Amino acid sequence: MKHILILTTGGTIASVQSPDGLVPGITSEQLLGYLPQIGADIDIDIKELFHIDSTDMMAGHWLKIVEAVKKNYDDYDGFVICHGTDTMANTAAVLSYMIQNSRKPIVLTGAQKPIGFEITDAKSNLQDSILYAADSASRGVQIVFAGNVIAGTRAKKVRSTSFSAFTSINLPIIAAISNGRIIRFLNDPAFVNAPDATDQRVVFYDSINTNVFLLKLTPSMSPELIPEIFRLYDGIVIESFGAGGIPASIKQTLFNELSKFKPEEKVLAMTTQVTYEGSHLESYEVGRRLTGSFEILEGRDMTLEAIVAKLMWILADRGQSWEGLQKRFYEPIAKDMLL
Ligand code: ASP
Repeated sequence: MKHILILTTGGTIASVQSPDGLVPGITSEQLLGYLPQIGADIDIDIKELFHIDSTDMMAGHWLKIVEAVKKNYDDYDGFVICHGTDTMANTAAVLSYMIQNSRKPIVLTGAQKPIGFEITDAKSNLQDSILYAADSASRGVQIVFAGNVIAGTRAKKVRSTSFSAFTSINLPIIAAISNGRIIRFLNDPAFVNAPDATDQRVVFYDSINTNVFLLKLTPSMSPELIPEIFRLYDGIVIESFGAGGIPASIKQTLFNELSKFKPEEKVLAMTTQVTYEGSHLESYEVGRRLTGSFEILEGRDMTLEAIVAKLMWILADRGQSWEGLQKRFYEPIAKDMLL
């Protein structure tokens, strides 16, 4: 018998129609009542953590999710977290850093249509998630959605209404689930338990630094806000164009700010607005004008969600040297970085 704990947080899956639009309104017991028949060898408990649209998800909610998994870790074989789709990829990335080396699966799922609607993806997503969480080979943090199993560090929401809401960026999907069968494609130890695995110990982290700012560049951007961003934040992610570079319009102001701080005091990470294939700062002069003068981090093939989450996780400790910080950033976790 497999014991699965479902943790509910709200989202469309648990929403009902209200005069003001869809709002989370279904209790966890009601949610369970909608579930189609699950195998007799799976025992399910359900616990409501909160009841929010994932647009309202904050760092405090992430910590509560981690705490709930930690508290119940020894009593269950797997976890399913029902979550709104809007920030599910962010939560999946955060959990991938805050719960490491888990030989038990921690699955996030949700739906594009509420479970009470006649046409809904909620039941199949939930059923697939439970099936995946109950499989002894599954491990670590993943999203199960529309028949795909996606690494928590690689997921991105790419469709706002159709059922196939998520895709896996720069890494193939780990598995597909079809008609109650799991078809595994990636047999990587980050995602699949070896039958004889014994030496794994889960590690839970309990703090995060939300002082990370994301600056998306637009052509002809004015530099005025940059000093203010440096004043307020510990980590700054610049989502640049193409292979990556700093435009002339903001270069001087940015360089002035960078010159005032040690690299570990204000951590700058560069990434790209291009969804696939990552940043390559060394390719062009516009990228080298930054790397040639300053110590910065490069997101390479990581997703934006993973870069922000990893920085939040690393910067929870503000006493680190630049070398230590770099080492932690570039050390791959749950296949978040391949390049
Ligand atoms: N706004 C909803 C949420 O993220 C969307 C969804 O769950 O699909 O909570």
